[in-house]
Amino acid sequence: MTTRQEPSFLDGVNLMFDRAAATLSIPHGLSEQIKLSNSVYQVRFPVRFQDEYTMFTGWRAVHSEHRLPVKGGIRFAPCVDQDEVEALAALMTYKCAIVNVPFGGSKGGLRINPREYNEEQLERITRRFARELISKGFISPSLNVPAPDMGTGAREMAWIADTYREQSPTDINALACVTGKPTTQGGISGRVEATGRGVQYALREFFRHPKDVALTGLKGTLEGKRAVVQGLGNVGYHAAKFLSEEDDCKIVAIVERDGAILSERGLVVEDVLAHVREHGGVAGFPNADYVENGLQVLEADCDILIPAALERQITRENAPRIRARLIAEAANGPVTFDADEILRANGKVMLPDVFLNAGGVVVSYFEWIKNISHIRFGRLGRRAEEVRGRNTIDLFEQMMNRPVPATMQEKLLHGADELDLVRSGLDDSMRLAYQEIREVLHTKNNIPDLRTAAFVVAVEKVLRTYSEMGA
Ligand code: GLU
Repeated sequence: MTTRQEPSFLDGVNLMFDRAAATLSIPHGLSEQIKLSNSVYQVRFPVRFQDEYTMFTGWRAVHSEHRLPVKGGIRFAPCVDQDEVEALAALMTYKCAIVNVPFGGSKGGLRINPREYNEEQLERITRRFARELISKGFISPSLNVPAPDMGTGAREMAWIADTYREQSPTDINALACVTGKPTTQGGISGRVEATGRGVQYALREFFRHPKDVALTGLKGTLEGKRAVVQGLGNVGYHAAKFLSEEDDCKIVAIVERDGAILSERGLVVEDVLAHVREHGGVAGFPNADYVENGLQVLEADCDILIPAALERQITRENAPRIRARLIAEAANGPVTFDADEILRANGKVMLPDVFLNAGGVVVSYFEWIKNISHIRFGRLGRRAEEVRGRNTIDLFEQMMNRPVPATMQEKLLHGADELDLVRSGLDDSMRLAYQEIREVLHTKNNIPDLRTAAFVVAVEKVLRTYSEMGA
């Protein structure tokens, strides 16, 4: 048994990069330029609450500026540190490249437990952090555009947008300085559900390819597949909800902070969320078995394991005991580098985070476009589509001399609204990205798995951009 420590999150991401880079011919020096963060800003600032000052530490890492703006969330969590923020920024670069979003990668974090503060205090802290980042060029519609991440959401994004607007009142694109805003503050329909929706679209696409499904030993479609989900936050909740309600997956266990619940009949995600909101955890959820050691349930027998919480949940310690055949990485970095090797050796298939959870940034891209174009998607075309539908119905009725059934009329008369267009664009992005990744997996030499294939897709695109720029 080796005594070597597991690589850090950042070292693990870099090792994954190296594994992919080794299969490509990258000019000397350029590989380091792509791999390492361009800059990291660390800030400490005090916030006064009544007579006391509390110090906060935050970071914003810019990984790659081969495309601008750079993009990535801001997380509020007690465990945030520079290694984590840099690792997440690097993942953002690869993620954007994989789903063809023309942004570089960035990530921010504030070391704080948001549960320890009330809304008013959080607003002051968020605005203060935002001011620090804005004044150093780490928030700007053209350079660096944050978004929600763990511990933040639409509310924090609205505060950040308002702080930016105050500091840059003449910037006509001010709203595009951050994405994931409330829809009433320049946000876009479908952004909240986007990452979970993207997980659903990605899994659907995976199951459209029997050759790939065969690698897992599973058969058929998503229907009836037994899934274990870790984390009922924004990503896990939406992924579990859509997969169970729309694809007939059975959610046989949900792992939360206080433990896990299991039910072979399948859990109703909405009910579990309502219970968690009311009782602060999953314990006591009716008609399900409760296990206090939630982590142990990651090892439960199931078809698909969906870690949708924190990074480093599957390590070399528990990896050998994972029984799921397919691991769908809805969180960022849930599988460590060592665990990845063990799982692959055990024949497990992983849908890597850099692809699987990219739905959030895809829809962020749509929101940013909406903000800089100052028009809602569908505003121009929706009624024209309805007119086309009406003409089609009239033509059919004239020629066939019988009425078009009411349900069909309804479909034909529905012009695509913003949510329809966002979902359509997200679905297309996830499908195409998966097709590019599997093409690399099946046609290139020495590509052992989907993660290496995804990194190859990403690194090739970043490399091409640098080469064309002549950097
Ligand atoms: N925080 C999300 C992620 O990790 C979204 C980033 C974004 O929309 O910019 O992908």
